[in-house]
Amino acid sequence: MSGTLFVFSAASGAGKTTLINRVMPNFPNVVYSVSATTRKPRTGEIDGTHYFFKTEEEFKKMIEQNELVEWNKVHNNYYGTPKFFVEQKLSEGRDVAFDLDVFGKINFDKVYPQAIGILILPPSLEELEKRLRDRKTETEDAIKIRMENAKKEMEFATTKGKYQYTIYNGDLETATAELKGIMEKYSSFKSSIQSGS
Ligand code: 5GP
Repeated sequence: MSGTLFVFSAASGAGKTTLINRVMPNFPNVVYSVSATTRKPRTGEIDGTHYFFKTEEEFKKMIEQNELVEWNKVHNNYYGTPKFFVEQKLSEGRDVAFDLDVFGKINFDKVYPQAIGILILPPSLEELEKRLRDRKTETEDAIKIRMENAKKEMEFATTKGKYQYTIYNGDLETATAELKGIMEKYSSFKSSIQSGS
């Protein structure tokens, strides 16, 4: 039997990364899929660990050569899921987690309909904007783009997204317990002894 696929999606600033980083250490058999992107690395981001950083030309070549499970243009940059990584991890008996934008998830479902979709939402749009500003990693223009996208994403995800679970990340402790509970239900622990990725 093949491992479990978990797809996490959120509006940016919903606190997805914090939440996932708190929960993942409990699941050593779940490995995070490394996406390809044309976005420039942020401080501290490592090529091959956080993303495979690509030029637009390299990314388009990956699309042409059918190397991606799905891809999408998010916030003016391309993001996509490399096939080789998922296939390799599944063949090793690992569970794989994906961080996909809500539109990419629809295409992902066509390839892996068995994936468990978990949507992480902020308690409100006001709170989302506040969090984006507090993060201080984005310019004012980028915040505007992200807020507009967040509204579209939330609308799309809640009407067409087909997520099995929705977590409202208001209180971090509650949301952490919720996510942990969901992953416990589906995660296969069979090779949790293995280390590394
Ligand atoms: P960030 O630039 O903040 O790391 O990610 C921005 C957005 O890109 C997030 O909404 C994230 O879910 C999405 N994303 C990251 N990797 C992928 C991917 O492989 N495919 C798709 N469709 N979206 C991705």
